[in-house]
Amino acid sequence: MDHTKLLCDISELNHLFRDSVSVESFLQQITEMVSKHMKTEVCSIYLYDDDGEILTLKATKGLNHEMIGKITLALGEGLTGISLKELRPINISNATQHPDNKLFWGTGEQKYENFLAVPIARGVERIGVLVLQRAQSYTFSDSDILACKAVASQLANIIENARFIISMHSDHEEKSRSLVKKQSRLIHGKVASEGYCLGETLVLDKEKTFNSLLKRRFTRHYTIKDFKNAVKQTANQLEDMQEEVEEKLSDAASLIFASHLLILKDHEFIGQMESMIAMGTNPPQAILQIAKKYMDIFEKAQNVFVREKVQDIEDLTVRLISNITYDQEIISSYKGKVVIARDIFPSELLKMTSEKIGGIILVSGGVTSHLSILASSLAIPMVIANDLTLLDVENKTKVLLDADTGNIYLKPNQDVIDEFQRRNKQREKISQLDHNVKSETKTKDLQKITLLANINLLSDISLAKKVKCEGVGLYRTEFPFIVRNNFPSEQEQYITYRKLITSMKGQPVIFRTLDVGGDKMLSYYHNTIEQNPAIGMRSIRFSLENKEVFIQQIRAILRAGEGEELKIMFPMISSIDEFDAAKNIVLECIESLRNESEEFNSKPAIGMMIELPSVIELIDDFAKEADFFSIGTNDFIQFMLGVDRTNEKVASFYMPYHPSVLRAMKTIVESVQAHGKEISVCGSMSSDKKYIKFLLGIGLKVLSVSPSHLPRIQKVINSITISDAQAYATQLISKNRACDIAKLMGIQDSV
Ligand code: PEP
Ligand code: MG
Repeated sequence: MDHTKLLCDISELNHLFRDSVSVESFLQQITEMVSKHMKTEVCSIYLYDDDGEILTLKATKGLNHEMIGKITLALGEGLTGISLKELRPINISNATQHPDNKLFWGTGEQKYENFLAVPIARGVERIGVLVLQRAQSYTFSDSDILACKAVASQLANIIENARFIISMHSDHEEKSRSLVKKQSRLIHGKVASEGYCLGETLVLDKEKTFNSLLKRRFTRHYTIKDFKNAVKQTANQLEDMQEEVEEKLSDAASLIFASHLLILKDHEFIGQMESMIAMGTNPPQAILQIAKKYMDIFEKAQNVFVREKVQDIEDLTVRLISNITYDQEIISSYKGKVVIARDIFPSELLKMTSEKIGGIILVSGGVTSHLSILASSLAIPMVIANDLTLLDVENKTKVLLDADTGNIYLKPNQDVIDEFQRRNKQREKISQLDHNVKSETKTKDLQKITLLANINLLSDISLAKKVKCEGVGLYRTEFPFIVRNNFPSEQEQYITYRKLITSMKGQPVIFRTLDVGGDKMLSYYHNTIEQNPAIGMRSIRFSLENKEVFIQQIRAILRAGEGEELKIMFPMISSIDEFDAAKNIVLECIESLRNESEEFNSKPAIGMMIELPSVIELIDDFAKEADFFSIGTNDFIQFMLGVDRTNEKVASFYMPYHPSVLRAMKTIVESVQAHGKEISVCGSMSSDKKYIKFLLGIGLKVLSVSPSHLPRIQKVINSITISDAQAYATQLISKNRACDIAKLMGIQDSV
């Protein structure tokens, strides 16, 4: 039987669901669709209730409808129960004779011999069973089973989500809610920043908080004195928070709360509130009305800078109201919370860090996006789960965020928590071992490999040193720019860069010049909205377009590098012309510093990142121009394969093991080394154990990795011989299909 039609219809399930008035009617439509296609007299769906461990008939085409909701089976009871218990399809041609079959009188199923049950499950989570029955003696074929499995797998997702969605528009609202309340739920996402946290959820929906405040009636009347006290108290709190963040993150946190404080001290803003209060308006109402007025004005100008200001006002208003009413419930403390959000600004992430947030679940974004990188630097566990229903989870729901595996357990039961805590103890032991790294990394046949660290914020340095990196292979200078409210001055940059250089005590440091744009927008820069920011005015293009900013940065780097081994690296170079233009600016800065009394490094090595496919054809020529190279695999893969690295929906197409990626990397490494120049890899591929053997096999001797991965990578390198690695790389490269390479690498190919 050709199942193409059914498989096409399955992809329509989501629509079918949206148009249904209830879960029951949706399930009923499914049973009709499947039975029609599979030419069976009966198709039924049973749903499983985890708490009672009971399967209940929820929809059927072919059995007596009066039995819906009445037929129940225990897990493991009858063929249907066994199928769910053992999570496997059961296909029987003479069901009525089967000893495990359980027939229900009144359903009319005694006449059906042919039986197929397919479990509906997500991983090991049991959701229900899809059952097909037919009168004539006929065995369902493998392709029938496959088609039913596809239906079951789609149903699993929809039914899981349905419990949330349906509660919004069905008259079974309370019933569904209580179901949701009781049930634990496992959602699998992608790890963006490793770690774990057991805490309570906090859905970040500031708009909702603000809107509910707008609707609130403040019965108590407050005075102008109360208002002034609240303003003062809010300012004190903001200043304290600012101080605390700065202590921890000196390079990044400068003036994070500055715009809040500025708004708070703005005479217009506060003055208008005071006038309203003087005319008799209750202060909370006055705060809300004026704040709303400002937000409406800002909201109209559709750009990131302004959007962030709207959030600042929202945040500030909530703080003010909380301080005037002494209602601490209004303001959400992030402490220990697992925040669920659609999007978070980098500066917000820092604010959350200052309040010791427990973890983050983002419902959009990509694992190599810069928010993920920042979260890693801040040691905040973060998982990206493409599941919008997470935004409907009630606040204060218990959640276990396992950001080592990407698993999110909502309302985990005690067994899960116990198992998790046992694993944690083990993990702590292992991580102590992890710090027993050697200061030099060698392969099994004693070839030296240099492991450098990727640094995003100065707070990364202590771990980088603990794991004995041999220098910094990538300092992403943009992070201090991204999390601020304005461009840092040359002097501010100098202080940060000098701190990095001196703390690395004579080890080399590669400064990657400003790499903004794409998913690293500067909120304070008046970016024009671009259709495709990843290939827009970003990175080195931004620096060459904004020469003043670039010159300040280069001067700060040259001054900070005085007396040390200094390397400057340009990101996203697409042509030799561009490399020349950037290099010329460095030379001009050296010239102008010579005429000043400042001390500086006049002989930095000048290198470039390889992130764009256009470099491959010109690699021999580039190798003559640049002093060193580093392959930024995050962008290189993105542009080689045309896959947005920040879009989780296309994550399965983002294949580091794609033959073109592997072959191009080999070509690049060989060409650069033939010219006697140094080349490293600094994208996520070098922090991933799976790819190390290949990287060594194509001749790489220097890898720059995120510090938390360094011990693991060192161990992997210790177990590899170069000759084995070379043979392995040759074998991989001989294949022309990603699936074949994936198989050789032990990767589950997802496309
Ligand atoms: C890369 O693209 O691999 C890289 C290291 O740069 P970033 O991740 O900062 O874009
Ligand atoms: Mg990059």
